[in-house]
Amino acid sequence: MTTVNVFGVDIDTRHYINGQRVAAKDTYKNTSPIDGSFLGEFARGDAADADLAVKAAKAAFPEWANMGPQKRGELLFKLADLIEENIEVLANIETLDNGSLLRSHRRGVMPRVAMNIRFFADWAINQLHHEPFETRGHTNNVSWDPSGVAVLITPWNAPLMLATWKIGPALAAGDTVVLKPAEWTPLTASFFADLTKKAGIPDGVFNVVFGFGREAGAALTAHPEISRISFTGSVPTAKIIAHAAADNLTPVSFELGGKSPLVVLEDADLDLAATLAVEQYDNAGQVCLSGTRILVHESVADEFAQKFAEKAAALKQGDPRDEDTDIGPQIHQVHFDRIKGFVDRAKDEGANIVMGGGPNSDLGGLYFKPTLVKDPTPGSEIVTQEIFGPVLAMQTFSNDEQALEMANGTEFGLAAVVVSGDREHAKKITDKLVAGTIWVNCFFVRDLRAPFGGSRKSGIGRDGGTWSFDFYADVKNTVFSPNGWKE
Ligand code: ADP
Repeated sequence: MTTVNVFGVDIDTRHYINGQRVAAKDTYKNTSPIDGSFLGEFARGDAADADLAVKAAKAAFPEWANMGPQKRGELLFKLADLIEENIEVLANIETLDNGSLLRSHRRGVMPRVAMNIRFFADWAINQLHHEPFETRGHTNNVSWDPSGVAVLITPWNAPLMLATWKIGPALAAGDTVVLKPAEWTPLTASFFADLTKKAGIPDGVFNVVFGFGREAGAALTAHPEISRISFTGSVPTAKIIAHAAADNLTPVSFELGGKSPLVVLEDADLDLAATLAVEQYDNAGQVCLSGTRILVHESVADEFAQKFAEKAAALKQGDPRDEDTDIGPQIHQVHFDRIKGFVDRAKDEGANIVMGGGPNSDLGGLYFKPTLVKDPTPGSEIVTQEIFGPVLAMQTFSNDEQALEMANGTEFGLAAVVVSGDREHAKKITDKLVAGTIWVNCFFVRDLRAPFGGSRKSGIGRDGGTWSFDFYADVKNTVFSPNGWKE
C-alpha cells in the first residue's frame, strides 16, 4: 500500500523526491495519539534516500535561484491559496496525527500556515532591501543571494506550522528544500508536497524524506552538498546535529526547548494572570514557548492560586476533535511515559502536587491530567528541565531582584511572560529578562516581521522578516567604486 486514507483523503506514504513518489526499502507504522488507530506505513528513509533527495534539490537549485523573487512569489502565492482551500483537510489530518485541538488547527494554525508561505514570498519581493552605505564615494549594496539546499528538520508538536516557518523563507530566498518531518507526524507534510506540485513549484525544489531522526535525519544533516540546516527540537538532538554540521561547516539555525517563566508581579490583574497561566496547558503542554514556571509575588500568591484553580478546574480534557475540548492527548506512549516519569519522581521526592499528577483514568490512553506542583524544591528537575507536558510549577518571590534571579535561573532563554498593571514596573523586569520573546500581559501573539528565537541553550539564530533571509540566503555586499567607469 502506498497510500493511507485519512479523513477521506488519500495520503501518499512514500517520500516526495524530484516531484515523484519514491518508495523506501523499509517502512514504519504511524498511529494516532487519539485512539491508537492506524495512520499508514510510512517510508523509513535511509542514507540513500537522503542522498537522492539532496541531489534532486541541488539539481533544481539553479533554475529556482535564477527565477527571482517575483516569479517564485507567484508560485508561492498559488501554494498559499491551495493551503487556504484545504484548511479543513489539513486541520483534520493534523489533529488525527498529533492530537492537537481541531478547533485551533481550523481557526489559528492552518490559516497561519498559508500566511507563513504568503508572508515570506511577499517579504522577498517587497521588503528585502537595504539602503546602500556610502563610504568615501563608494557605494555598498547589500543583497541576499540564494544559498543552495536547505535541510529542514521539524518536530511533532506543531508539524506543518513549524515546517512552513522554514519552508516559506527558504523557498522565497531561492533555496531548494529537503524536509524531514518528525516520524510521529508525517501526514500533513505528505499532503503539503502534493499541494506544491499542484501549485506548479518545479520538481526537485521541494522534497520530503520521511523516517527516523537517527537514520534519515542524520544522513541529511551530515550531507556535504547542503547549504543550510534549520532544526526545531530538543537540545540533545541539536547537539548531535551541530556535530554533523561541523564536518562540513554547514550553517545551522536552531529553535530549541525552554523552561520559560511566567512572572506575576504584585500589581498584576490576577484574573488576567490566572487566564494566562492556564493557557500554558495549551496543546497539552507540548509547546516549547510555554511558561511552565509560574513565579508569583508572595503578597498575591493565595489569591492568584485560587483563581488559577478555578480556571484550571473548568478545563475540559478529551477528544481533540470535539469543539469544547481544551486539552487533548499527549503525542505518543514514549513521550507520555517521559512526562509521567518526571511527575512520579517529583512525588517520590515529596513534591506538593496540588492538581492532577497522573494519567486521566476516565479517558485512558495518552491523556495526562493538567498538573500543578507548588513550591518545588529549588534546583529540582521539575523546575529546571523541559517536561513538554501539562505540568506547571508554582513558586513565590518577595521582590523584583528575587523574581529576576529565579526567572533567569535556568540554562534556557526562549520566552517569558510578565503580568503587571504598571508599565514602568513591567519594563524594569523585561529589561533584565533573558529571553528571545517576552509577552507582557499576553501570550503567543507574534508578528511574522518580528524576530523569533531563543537565547542561551534555547537556540541559535532568529526567524522572522529579514532575520529569516539572513539565515537562508548568502548575504552579500557589493562595493561600487566612483572610479573606472567609461561613461
Ligand atoms: P523529540 O525528542 O521531542 O522527538 P527531537 O529533537 O529528537 O525531539 O526531534 C525533532 C526532530 O529531529 C524530528 O524530526 C526527529 O526525527 C529529528 N531528529 C532526531 N534525531 C536526529 C538526528 N540524530 N539527526 C537529525 N535529526 C534528528
